[in-house]
Amino acid sequence: MTQPLYTLDAVLTATGGRADGIKADAIRSISIDSREIGPDALFVAIKGDRFDGHDFVETALANGAAAALVSRGTGAGRITVPDALEGLVDLARAARARSRALIVGVTGSVGKTTTKEALRIVFEASGETHASIKSFNNHWGVPLMLARMPETAQFGVFEMGMNAPNEIRPLSQLVRPHIGIITTIAPAHLEKLGSIEAIARAKAEIFEGIEPGGTAVINADHPQIDLLLELARTAGINVVTFGFARGTDWQILDAETAGDRSFATVLNGDVSHALTIGVAGRHMLSNATAALAVASLVGVAPEIALRALAGFGPQPGRGQRIHLGSKDKPLLLIDESYNANTASMTAALDVFGSVSAPDGKKVVVLGDMLELGEAGPALHAGLADTVRSSGADQVYLVGANMARLAEALPKTLFSRHFTSVEQAMPELLAALAYGDAVMVKGSNGVGLSRLVAAIKDKF
Ligand code: ATP
Repeated sequence: MTQPLYTLDAVLTATGGRADGIKADAIRSISIDSREIGPDALFVAIKGDRFDGHDFVETALANGAAAALVSRGTGAGRITVPDALEGLVDLARAARARSRALIVGVTGSVGKTTTKEALRIVFEASGETHASIKSFNNHWGVPLMLARMPETAQFGVFEMGMNAPNEIRPLSQLVRPHIGIITTIAPAHLEKLGSIEAIARAKAEIFEGIEPGGTAVINADHPQIDLLLELARTAGINVVTFGFARGTDWQILDAETAGDRSFATVLNGDVSHALTIGVAGRHMLSNATAALAVASLVGVAPEIALRALAGFGPQPGRGQRIHLGSKDKPLLLIDESYNANTASMTAALDVFGSVSAPDGKKVVVLGDMLELGEAGPALHAGLADTVRSSGADQVYLVGANMARLAEALPKTLFSRHFTSVEQAMPELLAALAYGDAVMVKGSNGVGLSRLVAAIKDKF
């Protein structure tokens, strides 16, 4: 049996809730999905875009939830508060207040989940670690992850995401990290933010929640670095930089990728570290270097961090290499279907440049990068040189914005444009053959994961 997360009394004290007919005296897990009820679960009835958890309270209780945190409805098993999401935030605040863990917050335009996972394995090698799952990084995901932190955790890692200004600040002020990482600044969510400077300012809101005496760990490989340094100075926190740029505190040198592993020397002052990771790409070395810098700040020995990072592999949909077929008839599928913006698109195409097809052609399937607003068409067209230097023999483009890239690509390159995944699927599946290497990348909303599934089915 897992240790209780909270006594029932602690939940009532934290939330100010009114309990009705609750038999359990302890809560061991927290759920917002009535289909996933853990032991002695507190089901929190959150209202999302499509569903309202209040419609599932009875199901959650029938599925074994010990109690449900609700803002409406009556009956046994309920803890009633004015607003269930606020109740969850209260619980998160209580988890943070009692915690003695070293807390790290991670934000940035790309690389949050990857960096969070790199930190997870580094910390797990040193002590009890609680880290956000998946990309639970928004106004309900962060409180849910924080509320789930056991009192005994020695390390906590929380991802914080945003689509608009003023979203990171409240998350950071809730999490109160000792260390806040900005993985990078790149054009993503431009639609709502308008400019790259506005993106940098929105990410820098993380500084406002960092504990006094805490540290910002900032990637320096982008033009907004001076602004971030100034904002960190204004916030009165310490700063550590990392990246490929000269003069960073944790500077990556001699980066190399061979197969699905990457190598670099990381220079910190006059100490150099040999970094190896089980993922391809300079961008992944950058994320791992952030984890190495944080390890050093919290006193995890570099040998422990480096050994853990050597076992760091790709996350689903983010550069995962899937070897299909058989030894005699192989097909290499690189699954990048989880998401795309210009930074991750460029990074993935760079990596694809170093990939050899087992015994055939190199194919890329690129879907629209969404939420780029007015800059979208030009940013798509601007990928032409990167696509050319990836050595792709065939390019399949999917989505309205990708029409601009189709126009910008040289006529000598075999390329096809489709408006939807379904339209692209038959021709692409027919074109692929054993011996090929194919990389699939696009924003989640384009639905290229369906294409990945179809390729896996066929080969
Ligand atoms: P999201 O906000 O969409 O959840 P994220 O910030 O958590 O994204 P990841 O999930 O780690 O980022 O990675 C998303 C995509 O960006 C993947 O294709 C990944 O390979 C790529 N990526 C990861 N780190 C970097 C980086 N430092 N620079 C460029 N691309 C990166």
